[in-house]
Amino acid sequence: MKSLPYFCRGEVVKGFGRGSKELGIRTANFPDRVVEHLPADIPTGIYYGWACVGHGEVHKMVMSIGWNPFYKNEKKSMETHIIHTFKEDFYGEVLSIVIVGYIRPEKSFNSIDELIAAIHSDIEEATSRLESDDHRKLKDDSFFTPLDRTIMNGH
Ligand code: ADP
Ligand code: MG
Repeated sequence: MKSLPYFCRGEVVKGFGRGSKELGIRTANFPDRVVEHLPADIPTGIYYGWACVGHGEVHKMVMSIGWNPFYKNEKKSMETHIIHTFKEDFYGEVLSIVIVGYIRPEKSFNSIDELIAAIHSDIEEATSRLESDDHRKLKDDSFFTPLDRTIMNGH
């Protein structure tokens, strides 16, 4: 995919709580504007990369790009699961991400348990792939470093 790595940011909006209560895996949603900007050569599926909330630390993430059944599959959504435990929700904060690589296409599962198992294996896959030197570099990209912090650090 020519467009990867793909950097973007936007405020975290409410999703539809779709499944996340049953699944125990929270996913932060981007506003439509951000989703509509996605380049056409990034197909739906499961991706991995880096994510940062506000001016916080950069964490590993997995994300799904898919069609939202709530809108009769006419609307794409981007949902980011950050591989980190947060003390509080962060609705309304700015989420910055870089999509680094692709894991698998979207698929439907026969049971919730199979879906949960697949998500856990996606999280493991993302965690280990992001350890590569090339991927680690992106974690330190200046995209995640606000200008004021760079100046304060004397760079
Ligand atoms: P929604 O349907 O509103 O997306 P979720 O149950 O999927 O609801 O929860 C997503 C929200 O949970 C995010 O918007 C964020 O505020 C919060 N959250 C807490 N921890 C995480 C995490 N590790 N990854 C993603 N979102 C998280
Ligand atoms: Mg969600």
